Amino acid sequence: MNPYQFLRYTPGSNCGECGWPTCLAFAAAVTKAGVPAVRCPHLKREGLPQELLNGSAAADADSLERGEEERQTVLAAHLRGKMQGLDLRQLAPRIGAAWLADTPDLLCFAFLNRLVRLSAAGILLDGTEPADPRDQILLYNYIWFGGAGSYRKSDGTWVGMESLPNSISKIRTLAAYCEERLAERFSGRVERLIELCAALGATPADQSADAAFVIPALPCVPLLLLFWNAEPEDGFAAKVKVLFDHHVLDFLDLESLVFTAERMADRLLELDR
Ligand code: SF4
Repeated sequence: MNPYQFLRYTPGSNCGECGWPTCLAFAAAVTKAGVPAVRCPHLKREGLPQELLNGSAAADADSLERGEEERQTVLAAHLRGKMQGLDLRQLAPRIGAAWLADTPDLLCFAFLNRLVRLSAAGILLDGTEPADPRDQILLYNYIWFGGAGSYRKSDGTWVGMESLPNSISKIRTLAAYCEERLAERFSGRVERLIELCAALGATPADQSADAAFVIPALPCVPLLLLFWNAEPEDGFAAKVKVLFDHHVLDFLDLESLVFTAERMADRLLELDR
């Protein structure tokens, strides 16, 4: 199958959720590089050969990893390009960012208690360019989504990843890259977790858990972190659950949302060194 034949199985909406900036770029990656077609959540699967759905065995782990890095870099550049022409002054209040007339091409806001300075020219995170393109994708996506409506503070309605649409493949990723890492590190150390959440600007939440904090990951994207300590006498290991405001998909796509939670775990683990 060639890329144009494969293209008919996508909606052609160029939404970017697969990680490629256009459906055609994704079609080329599937048909030429063996990338699994199932990465497009909107795919019409009927009639597609199984080997395209699952990806090619020839696409070994190394080349997939290299392809993944390339894809992220291309996507970050694509999203940065989409900044051109955005009215940042109008956008700023919708996403809780600061805009100043002296620097009209710049938005400033906090990301996990770090200062983001973002423009079409690039991003600085606490004065340094983020090395990982996923940070850039996340932050440009936050700008690009722009809050589907007006600025909405969390109203205290929290939902799990499993309640968000099309999230089945992300539930395991969230557990592996965020929840399980935190549960393992802070098992038996709830006081230390409380101290570090405070360092991220978190506020205690009224929830039934051994520790419960609302962490302001981005101005309109709070994360609710729930921690239950291990109870060895009952055979229970420590457990972490991350919940999201029910409006969260107005501000980020699912992939960036899971990465936000992963970055929150990274920050807590770094601070714990
Ligand atoms: S996720 Fe699917 S619809 Fe969206 S850009 Fe990728 S291929 Fe196109």
